[in-house]
Amino acid sequence: MRLTFCAVVALVAAMPAVAAPDPAINAKIVDAGLNHGEVMDTVQYLTDRIGGRMTNSPQMRMAEKWTKQRFTDYGLSNARLEPFEFGRGWSIDSSQVRMTTPRVQQLRAIPVAWTPGTGSAITAPIIVAPMRRDRDFDKWRGKLNGKIVLVSMPGEGDEPKEPAFERYDSAALAKFDKFPMPKTDTAAFERALKRDGFDARRDAFLAAEGAKAWVSKSYRDGGLISGEGEGYAADDRRKVPGIQMAAEDYRKLTRLALGTEPVTLEMDTRVTFHEGDTRANNVIADLPGRDPKAGYVMAGAHLDSWVGADGATDNAAGSAVVMEAARILAGLGVKPKRTIRFALWSGEEQGLYGSIAYLDQHLVTRAPITDPVLAKANPYYSWAKRFPITPKPEFNELAAYFNLYNGSGKIRGIYAEGNPAVASTFQSWLAPFSAMGADKVVMSRTGGTDHVFMQSVGLPGFQFIQDPLDYDSRTHHSDVDTFDHLKADDLRQAAVIMASFLWNAANAETPLPRPPLPTKPKETNPFAYSDDDE
Ligand SMILES: [Zn+2]
Repeated sequence: MRLTFCAVVALVAAMPAVAAPDPAINAKIVDAGLNHGEVMDTVQYLTDRIGGRMTNSPQMRMAEKWTKQRFTDYGLSNARLEPFEFGRGWSIDSSQVRMTTPRVQQLRAIPVAWTPGTGSAITAPIIVAPMRRDRDFDKWRGKLNGKIVLVSMPGEGDEPKEPAFERYDSAALAKFDKFPMPKTDTAAFERALKRDGFDARRDAFLAAEGAKAWVSKSYRDGGLISGEGEGYAADDRRKVPGIQMAAEDYRKLTRLALGTEPVTLEMDTRVTFHEGDTRANNVIADLPGRDPKAGYVMAGAHLDSWVGADGATDNAAGSAVVMEAARILAGLGVKPKRTIRFALWSGEEQGLYGSIAYLDQHLVTRAPITDPVLAKANPYYSWAKRFPITPKPEFNELAAYFNLYNGSGKIRGIYAEGNPAVASTFQSWLAPFSAMGADKVVMSRTGGTDHVFMQSVGLPGFQFIQDPLDYDSRTHHSDVDTFDHLKADDLRQAAVIMASFLWNAANAETPLPRPPLPTKPKETNPFAYSDDDE
């Protein structure tokens, strides 16, 4: 069903009745979350016991099963796995990387996700051969046979400029309160697409040249490694083992390589591909509402992670908060008007696959991809470019979606995503939590996670503002993303506010006001010339 013009106007015109938050319910939510909270028990199991949850890995399968059972135990209805096509799972069995000449040293490195392992110990000399673009291949042709190839520019040591652990002050929060002026630059987007797929082309080049393995430099100093990679598609077969190395170790190798003595590495990396079922699963559960015609509201966070450590701040934290909100609300023993749905997404780290699948399966149909370049691109780049958007019947049922993503930091407010019509409602919902540090409604957008494509089709999907803590400086995707970096008071506060927002949205007289159904936007600068080399 497509929305008629009149229906769109009616949606925009519908202002929400700013119902005062129910103080009795909020007091119960606060008590359940702060005095009887379970969020830290939940997140400890997800991290210490289950561990890193790469999409379709055995650990992620275990997490899907366990979280689904938890939702059932909380008393939710119809806890279920909603599958979607993703690709192969991958896990690390063991990994050892040493320098053997000119001296012996253990190096800090991790296999790059979805690359093959060496299978047994291999020893080979290194060559420093930085490659960033296709045209760099010519420089190294004929020089890589039998070598371990260092593919990143070494650069120089980088000192931290910001504090490693940070909470926002009011000046920092105020900076987010800026209306996001839209930018449409089709040429820039097409250039970005051309660069997409470079890793696969480099793998093919290295294999054809007879390289034994490749090494990339970690993008952060301080010994942090993450091993992010691609090549999960069922028909993608990377040929050359890759490792990501701590920046300090990597630069040392590149300095030694300028000397006269040969630099030799020994690598022994063992990994397993899991191809039995190429479908990933979103975990979904419902707290049924009393009015079947009133639609539903939703909370979500991504359950999958990278494999450098235990995926604690990214994003067991958000997942545990969503689960805790479910536990708190189910425990109230009162039915909301609208159904409250809880979602733990999979495939987020590879391009928001889980939330895109939910949109495709439940909410909208976007025009098919006809351009062959776009068709091969990651949906993260291409999905939002497909017009027209045709709403499915469920499109009008989703009254609000709240996401939690950026680590363990407590909630400081919420991004209104350029929709001024929701600001006063959010302000009133935050008011009871001002003394807990959450009071800011800002007009800017925030990107990078599972509410993004809801916004792209005009659905009311929102993400909270959170204190950054050490998320960007240390834990994001890294080998220290463990339980130690989670802050109990912050997570309990977040669970309480998430539960309260869901309760308010589920009982509001009218749904949050939506923008019109998006259509293909005009170029921001129709007079721009594009530089293909950029
Ligand atoms: Zn992430």
